[in-house]
Amino acid sequence: MEALRKYLQEMPQLATKLLERLGEVMEEDKSFDYNNAEEMRLAYKEAQQVALERINEAKVPYYALTYPQTFFKCPTCALEIRGAYYEISNPITMNRGMFRVRSMHEFLDHGQPVYTEPIINMSDTLMGDDEHHLDVKKLAKILDGLPIPDDVMADLQAGKA
Ligand SMILES: [Zn+2]
Repeated sequence: MEALRKYLQEMPQLATKLLERLGEVMEEDKSFDYNNAEEMRLAYKEAQQVALERINEAKVPYYALTYPQTFFKCPTCALEIRGAYYEISNPITMNRGMFRVRSMHEFLDHGQPVYTEPIINMSDTLMGDDEHHLDVKKLAKILDGLPIPDDVMADLQAGKA
């Protein structure tokens, strides 16, 4: 799954591309007034469009984080990770789907396509383990229609990680 992992590590985040464009606009137009709400709203709208155009041209999937105000602390590396889900989108087909942030972190940062979570009941008793697999089939469906490198395609076709 190394090819798929590397491919997904390079996947751009929409918000990052958007901020990149906003930075360019402010750099180009020194009179840009970011305290002006209307000017800011229009610049934001333009930046989003340009960011999507660039992603579209690159023919790569992109992601947005949902619930960016939430954090999860990784039990392996103790990193605090923002968001609840990655919403991964295909800019060509507009197919999209949600993947848990923990699933993505385990795979992208630790190379683990599976992780287990303890199931604890109301009286704090351990009832077993809940296994979460990165849903590679779902990912393959979303990415369908993009020019995928052969080695990444092989990982996608291998199915459930
Ligand atoms: Zn970690």
